[in-house]
Amino acid sequence: MGAMDTQGAATSAAESSAEDAAERRDLAVRAAVEQGLVGGSDTADPLTCLLDVAGIRASAAALTSAFDGAVAPGTPVLHAFAVKAAPLVPVLRLLADAGLGCEVASPGELALARAAGVPAGRTVLDSPAKTVAELREALALGIAVNADNPQELERLDALVGRAPTASPIGVRINPQTGGGAIDALSTATSTSKFGVALRDPGARAWLVRAYLDRPWLTRLHIHSGSQGVPLALIAEGVRDLHALAEEINAAAGQRRVDTLDIGGGLPVNFASDEPAPTYAQYVAALREAVPALFDGSYGLVTEFGRSLLAKHGLVLARVEYTKTSGSRPIALTHAGVQVATRTAYAPAAWPVRILPYDAKGAPKTGDPVAQDIAGPACFAGDLLATARELPRLAPGDLIGVPDTGAYFFTAHYGYNSLPRPAVHGFTLTASGEVRFHLVRPAQDVPSIVAEAGGPLRDALLPASPAFEARGSGRSPGL
Ligand SMILES: *Cc1c(COP(=O)(O)O)cnc(C)c1O
Repeated sequence: MGAMDTQGAATSAAESSAEDAAERRDLAVRAAVEQGLVGGSDTADPLTCLLDVAGIRASAAALTSAFDGAVAPGTPVLHAFAVKAAPLVPVLRLLADAGLGCEVASPGELALARAAGVPAGRTVLDSPAKTVAELREALALGIAVNADNPQELERLDALVGRAPTASPIGVRINPQTGGGAIDALSTATSTSKFGVALRDPGARAWLVRAYLDRPWLTRLHIHSGSQGVPLALIAEGVRDLHALAEEINAAAGQRRVDTLDIGGGLPVNFASDEPAPTYAQYVAALREAVPALFDGSYGLVTEFGRSLLAKHGLVLARVEYTKTSGSRPIALTHAGVQVATRTAYAPAAWPVRILPYDAKGAPKTGDPVAQDIAGPACFAGDLLATARELPRLAPGDLIGVPDTGAYFFTAHYGYNSLPRPAVHGFTLTASGEVRFHLVRPAQDVPSIVAEAGGPLRDALLPASPAFEARGSGRSPGL
């Protein structure tokens, strides 16, 4: 089979899976209304979030098989899911069951990975501001650590010198290959805050020396992709990483660097159900730019987040009211900045699709009318879409916001004390019946009060009379 055939087959497989996913989504919406998870009535929840379990499994399988098909037999490959994309323990557990590990970047994310039962040997810690306590814990657990900068490496010198560790340790480099379409998400600009800037004067020599001086440095790390970054640019960074590893190993006269952690950052298509680019295309881009990457000389670690989860999440929200303002129809819904923070603040960079459903959860049809889809928060920019052509929405209808499985409802923003909505996974039985599985309960109002210092109600009041009696002798009026 030629390269064209392989690509054609991969594309049509992706297409049929996109159709299946859209079908499963519509079944799930209907069932969510029927089963009372969300709906138009006053007693139903006005907002809920769904995750397609079969879709998540399919993405994990696509990632795994894309690499399995490329690496030399026997090459160790760890796909570590970037926890920040969907920090939900049952999701991490599902991915672990599909053979994936976790990439964590805070004590909270590490705790989530451990709660999911992800073993230390399948966990990677990356973050630009690790404390000594975090580093000590990571080394004690034996999880992989990627140092961000020379000062962190000095901390590791001290810790590694004091106690033996099973942790594989690497250094993150910034290839300075340039940014993508979204500034805030471009990690490989010349002045990026991440990693050791490879093209700065003296940096390369410093890195080689650092590895020669430290036999325990065995990995190199890069994460140069993200939403808005083209595949060729991601591949260029990985090529530079591989070249640096070769240079270090040549200088060491041995295979000092044995593993390359090539990060994540595969962009996601927010315009349709099609997963694009695919993992197969990503691997093809790497094979073209760095053929030697897969020859078995190096074990590989990946750290994908968005591309594994985004397309499998759906926000479902009730339309509470509709109105017109300056002749523009507006639907006031319960999904806004709290579940789609980036879309509200940077709408041009993070456009989302809006899927209209009627009050029964059936896809809504009708002549398209340009409408604004607004969220519930009290600021003017809380819009999910502006002048979007949709069948005219009515109170009690639902809107679905697809492609929101990563960095949307899993990265809640607590504006207006809006609660974190419930998250339900869904599966289909053999007979096509939808089953929901609670992944995260909705945040209730008492817990909002508690997290907002409810139990500390009097903390800021003037000192109590009892304190005054012991204290300054000043009158409470002063
Ligand atoms: C955020 C992040 C990832 C995941 O990025 P995606 O774009 O979600 O694939 C991987 N590695 C590191 C170091 C990250 O910061």
